[in-house]
Amino acid sequence: MNFCSHCGEQVIQRIPEGDSRLRYVCEHCHTIHYQNPNIVAGSVPVWEGKVLLCRRAIEPRLGFWTLPAGFMENGESVEQAARRETVEEACATLNNMQLYTLIDVPHISQVHVFYRAELTSEDFAAGVESLEVQLFDEADIPWDELAFHTVRRTLEWFFADRQKGVFPVHSDCLPVSRPPTPT
Ligand code: ZN
Repeated sequence: MNFCSHCGEQVIQRIPEGDSRLRYVCEHCHTIHYQNPNIVAGSVPVWEGKVLLCRRAIEPRLGFWTLPAGFMENGESVEQAARRETVEEACATLNNMQLYTLIDVPHISQVHVFYRAELTSEDFAAGVESLEVQLFDEADIPWDELAFHTVRRTLEWFFADRQKGVFPVHSDCLPVSRPPTPT
């Protein structure tokens, strides 16, 4: 950050009084520009035992497969964000959403939250951010072509839980140094 989004003057970095972290501070209008983690909300859409995945049409990870997910907007709940992203990326609607995974990704200041859900119908299609959208049996999941660790982790939990017949909520924190495509 170089300039104050409030008054347009140059900002500096310093620790404000009573704070313990370096912040962007505008000494002209005295605004402190706090920066906090972003929430990414997504779903695990299921239809007749198969899971819906989207192949990304945008960077990062263009061409890789992901669960429908994206950044939460102001004014909506996490569940609404997951539902909206599923409509936008897969033109699909969800029933019976259940909170499923919460994964911290501190090195990029994000929290990823996924809901298990049923597709309301077989009616889905690639949204503008997807190249294609497809239902996958467990045996056909493209593990080596998944876009994000949090998607992989969520799918691993999902198939393990399905064998046991119980789906507890899982939380995890992804390590900083994990390579982008573990195989
Ligand atoms: Zn300012």
